Amino acid sequence: MPRAGLSNASLVLLRSALADEQTVQRYRAKTRPMPGSSCLWWTGAVSARGHGRFWLGESDGRDVVVIAHRFAWALEFGVEDLQSVPVLGHRCDNPLCQRLGTAPDGSGHVQRSSPHENAREWASRRHAYGTPLRDSRGSRGRARAIRDLLRGGATGADLAAALGAGLLRARRSCRCGRTTPWTPAALPSPQAPASCSTWI
Ligand SMILES: [Zn+2]
Repeated sequence: MPRAGLSNASLVLLRSALADEQTVQRYRAKTRPMPGSSCLWWTGAVSARGHGRFWLGESDGRDVVVIAHRFAWALEFGVEDLQSVPVLGHRCDNPLCQRLGTAPDGSGHVQRSSPHENAREWASRRHAYGTPLRDSRGSRGRARAIRDLLRGGATGADLAAALGAGLLRARRSCRCGRTTPWTPAALPSPQAPASCSTWI
């Protein structure tokens, strides 16, 4: 997402929050690992784009909120580094994810990016079969549904079902006109019918 563009007052509040152990613990308490997923899941407030939102406090009588994974980045690399990064991209296509860099299994999560690179990656993945970018609930609806599930103490199987719920109506179409409903069992590498070589 685009850089935070925080005001000076908000930056002061952010630096204070990062240095305050109670605030950091409050942030960490809203994150949760899940069996079967290398992401670190946000369970707090969610933005219109499906990103986590973390309340820092008040400035001039107004609530100051930052995108949660940007708070995570500043916690790890500092406010100056956060300000220098034009875009933080989710290689896992999971806007709730708070894991920075690459997981031990090699999957990418929140990483440095640029507007051009982010747009290029989105364009390259948005037509992929079973991608979360095609969830019928939209990014916010998907994120809120999963966030609510995680707040209720979901298991890994519950999460897997919730991740697929919005994809069941997505259909994989090929240029001959046939379509195939998305099913979790078809992943990760469904085969095109012999007569069709190009999925669209
Ligand atoms: Zn992730």
